[in-house]
Amino acid sequence: MKMQINGKAVEACGGEVFGIKNPATGELIEQVPHGTEEDVVFAVEAASSAFASWASSSPQQRAGVLYRAAEIARQRKDQLAFLLTQEQGKPLVEARNEIEGFAHVLEYYCGLAGNLKGDFIPVPGNGYAFTLKKPLGVCAAIIPWNMPALIMGWKIAPGLISGNTLVLKPASNTPLTNLTLASIFGEAGLPAGVLNVVTGPGEIVGESLVRSPEVRKISFTGEARTGKRVAELAACGMKRVTLELGGSDPMLVCDDADLESAAAGALRGRFYNCGQTCTAVKRLYVFESVAEEFIKKLEAGIKNLKLGNGLDKNTSMGPLNNRTQWEYVKELVAEIKEKDTGKIITGGKVPEFKDSEKGYFFEPTLVSDVPGDSRLLREEVFGPLLPVVTVKGLDEAIGKANNTCYGLGASIWTKNIDRARAGCEQLNAGIIWINQHLKIAPEVPFGGVKESGFGRENGPEALSEYLETKTIMLKT
Ligand code: NAD
Repeated sequence: MKMQINGKAVEACGGEVFGIKNPATGELIEQVPHGTEEDVVFAVEAASSAFASWASSSPQQRAGVLYRAAEIARQRKDQLAFLLTQEQGKPLVEARNEIEGFAHVLEYYCGLAGNLKGDFIPVPGNGYAFTLKKPLGVCAAIIPWNMPALIMGWKIAPGLISGNTLVLKPASNTPLTNLTLASIFGEAGLPAGVLNVVTGPGEIVGESLVRSPEVRKISFTGEARTGKRVAELAACGMKRVTLELGGSDPMLVCDDADLESAAAGALRGRFYNCGQTCTAVKRLYVFESVAEEFIKKLEAGIKNLKLGNGLDKNTSMGPLNNRTQWEYVKELVAEIKEKDTGKIITGGKVPEFKDSEKGYFFEPTLVSDVPGDSRLLREEVFGPLLPVVTVKGLDEAIGKANNTCYGLGASIWTKNIDRARAGCEQLNAGIIWINQHLKIAPEVPFGGVKESGFGRENGPEALSEYLETKTIMLKT
């Protein structure tokens, strides 16, 4: 599959390619160009040339294109989901949800096309003041491998509807769905050069994009460490940046919670996408009076999860996406066993399959008796490990939940309104859920605090991330 620059499928300048493998089987699915700095220059030039015309089209014309793209993506949901599962590993049902989410976010921003307007501001004296909302120019969208279709939508929908042109850099191991979705925009009538995709390594393609003088904004989703590098480079060019980074979301289960529903929420919250979700439940704090009962429910639920190739319709949890994550998860569990820093209640090993699946599988794993300084609580664990910590009450739970460098999401499970309110007020995160976890919607602003980043995606808030306010003062 080729990169897409200026509306055309192109080879990389150097002609080199790299392979994309199915994480469930290790089979080669496709090869994509190994982009170079020259490819980035070419793509940014294409986006820059397309800018004036796209920016001067009406928001309603732009919405027409995005609506058509959403419609085509939905018509091809099954093929797109199949491709996404092949390259990413998630179960087909999750892949279909993701394609649906992609179409939905496009439609949501089409609906906001009429909101792209400034203000009239009365000022003293004989005159008027008003503001215009202008697109920024060429924007870079750099995305991770865990939810490539959804996060592509989160960036390009507000970016394009506001009149910007874009260069998208997919993650190195999941570019295929992104390339296919980008080609759909061409079919939907998006003019050449408005959306370009350059595949290749982050250190080359990503960094060249961030450094490019023509790029006015970078919307980055990925690890906190990479985000810091992006922020550093962007600061040199005084560019706008949105950073959607990692998380270590706590889930607090009070003694009055509906334990059945909390257990279901924790299982989905942790094991969806094989634990590779930025807002996954990564730390569980349970009141000690209900801990034993709650842990039993979790254990039973985990035993019902069907681990396997995401393409098999019975699978409820696929493999990890890549070797790095797989080795990391294995290392964490080996350390727990070696140093006796937790009790593995269920899971804890690489499964043995009878059939041909030999990818990056790891059993869904529940760990209790986790000490406060455990790596499971300090690091962002992107994989199917769920650590449970028991607490005496809410103050202790909130204190421990906030003891992290991250602040993406957090949830509190209780029927008591005062406890729910305390959670909302005191948990330090960009999104707080009450009696649920993981639910996201394009209508709702999304983003973190502390090392989980800054800026917001989704909701009307994301539009302002792609617009400049120009003030006009008129004397009469
Ligand atoms: P990553 O930081 O390794 O890579 C993200 C993207 O950045 C990739 O496209 C990569 O090629 C590129 N990149 C790498 N080095 C770069 C550099 N020096 N300059 C510019 N670009 C560079 O992250 P990942 O492993 O792909 O994704 C997992 C991470 O993403 C997790 O930390 C997860 O929590 C986070 N994430 C956050 C959100 C959110 O909305 N907050 C959503 C999904 C994932």
